Amino acid sequence: MIQRERRTDVPGAFQRLLGQSDPILSTMDGYLAEPHVRDRLRADEAAGAYSRSVLTGLRERGLVDLLLPDRATAPQLCGLAALTARHNGSVAVTVGVNGLGLLPVYIAGSPDQCATAATRLRNGQFAALMLSELAYGSNLLRNEASARPDGDGYRLQGAKELINGGAEHDIIVAFLRTDGPGPAAGPRRSPLRDFTLFLLERDATVLPHGRWRTLPVPAADISGVRFADTWVPANAVVGGVGQGFAVVQKTLMVSHGGVAAFASGAASGAVDIAVDHARTRNIYGQPIVELGAINEHLMRMMALDLVVAATALKASLATNRFGANAGYFTAVAKYVCCRLAEEAVSEGRQVLGARALLEDLPYARFVRDVLVYGTFDGTSHLMLDHVSEYLLRFVDRRHKPTLDMTREIYALPPRLLRDATRQPWRPYAPGVVGRCQDLAEASGIDAAGHLAIQAQGLVDLVACARAAGLWSGDQALRFQAAATLTTIEALLATCELALPAGRAVCAGPETSLEAVDRAAVDYALGWLGARVTDQVRELSFLIGPGGGERISNRLPQLGLTPQVRRALRELALAGSTGPTGRDGA
Ligand SMILES: Cc1cc2nc3c(=O)[nH]c(=O)nc-3n(C[C@H](O)[C@H](O)[C@H](O)COP(=O)(O)OP(=O)(O)OC[C@H]3O[C@@H](n4cnc5c(N)ncnc54)[C@H](O)[C@@H]3O)c2cc1C
Repeated sequence: MIQRERRTDVPGAFQRLLGQSDPILSTMDGYLAEPHVRDRLRADEAAGAYSRSVLTGLRERGLVDLLLPDRATAPQLCGLAALTARHNGSVAVTVGVNGLGLLPVYIAGSPDQCATAATRLRNGQFAALMLSELAYGSNLLRNEASARPDGDGYRLQGAKELINGGAEHDIIVAFLRTDGPGPAAGPRRSPLRDFTLFLLERDATVLPHGRWRTLPVPAADISGVRFADTWVPANAVVGGVGQGFAVVQKTLMVSHGGVAAFASGAASGAVDIAVDHARTRNIYGQPIVELGAINEHLMRMMALDLVVAATALKASLATNRFGANAGYFTAVAKYVCCRLAEEAVSEGRQVLGARALLEDLPYARFVRDVLVYGTFDGTSHLMLDHVSEYLLRFVDRRHKPTLDMTREIYALPPRLLRDATRQPWRPYAPGVVGRCQDLAEASGIDAAGHLAIQAQGLVDLVACARAAGLWSGDQALRFQAAATLTTIEALLATCELALPAGRAVCAGPETSLEAVDRAAVDYALGWLGARVTDQVRELSFLIGPGGGERISNRLPQLGLTPQVRRALRELALAGSTGPTGRDGA
């Protein structure tokens, strides 16, 4: 059996970029790395059993403190997500659903509801958010489970499915129809106000009706739940009758950043194992890290890990500043972090060979768990839909200086989610071209200048597509453009947070990056920068003669230089332990 699962001495990329370490998170990190805890988690996952004892261990180490409405902050909860996902996806999502489930309370709960949630958390209860119904999936507005006025309260009926904590967690926030679906034909008022959120405690009328066996996160409790005439008092309503959909939208705009942090943890966990394996697996008389192709997979993983961490961290800090108004940045992060983390895990599969597919060995966990992050909490398609709406707005956006606000995002100390999310509704998303230009001019970072040209090319193509009538009619094209934008944003976040010149301009946090990280950032900017040029060029062909060649010719010719590759290769090799014969199995 494998002995080492990860480099316990090096914090994950999210934490390295954040610099400071939180004492509760550090204690939990150490606990999850203990061999007996890892064994317990492995056994629970093999049995598909809810990891009760490990969750108790996390509670004993201060988990509840991080979740209390008068303690919870976005950077800390995202740090928790990244840290747990680096160890174990099942634990990560089981812990993470508490932040998700409590978000409506942070965002719109009354003082009494915040106090009630805190008491229940302290009493050992966990939270679940019940949105989904099997029949309607992503389209919450067709949901049927309902709450009907009954005396001084409401009577709840209907079923929710695929609920994380659906059988085990007792603090329930449920999204229920409080108005009828209306006439089948004829004009109908907006359905947006047909739903209300309720905060309730599980009782005998809240019936679990079956646990799903999931390919990823097999120890998580993903269950169905049925309300069998459950009665709740009127003061169980969160945020007002008819406000359910609005509060859920804000909730998801914040939680997307948490999922991006899960993806960051997954990428870091995969890198840990792959690096360790490549440096110790010896089949030709020296570690396989000496093989050029294996080394390249590792370099790509390291590069992706840092880009994912920077993007997820920026989303969490933007949420800290703007609350749900940072929805553009969290949607970007959710899409691109999940996608790039999947890519990082695939690169690692090439390093591990068969050992990536053996369920008794730890890498297989990342292979299966990484798939979940882009699927729940709004699928990747929904993120692209959201991002594409912003991209269209960027076409007509006039440039206003952005650096002051960027500095504010990075400099603001962590503040309560309860405060951050109760700001007036004013989405924050200045045009991408201007943000890239502002950074390039102030920092002199070449890569930021290239991003500005690429972003301008992308925005010009969107304008062409709109003029040609392609934008509104071609969802696949819109999504491809939006996906390109997310890569640009990810590289911009990397410039801001992971390059010393970017941090100096943006007043980003003091990092604890190592020399190998700096080399990996250069690798990322060359490699993924060239990918953006290719993506914009491909779009220009799709849009056709109206858009094409002129824009395509302006794009920077980018790519990895031999020096950048050599620098990272040498550092990646530096930790090689030589022919130890230890192969991780
Ligand atoms: C492990 C796990 C945990 C979960 N936890 C919870 C939880 O705690 N609470 C909860 O309420 N739910 C939870 N869910 C449910 C999850 O949020 C839904 O599965 C998800 O929202 C998508 O719904 P669906 O799978 O039915 O896909 P569908 O909505 O049926 O979509 C099918 C396909 O169509 C695509 N699609 C949908 N809409 C569009 C569009 N407008 N444009 C283009 N493509 C589109 C989707 O991306 C998808 O690829 C969980 C699911 C899993 C797997």
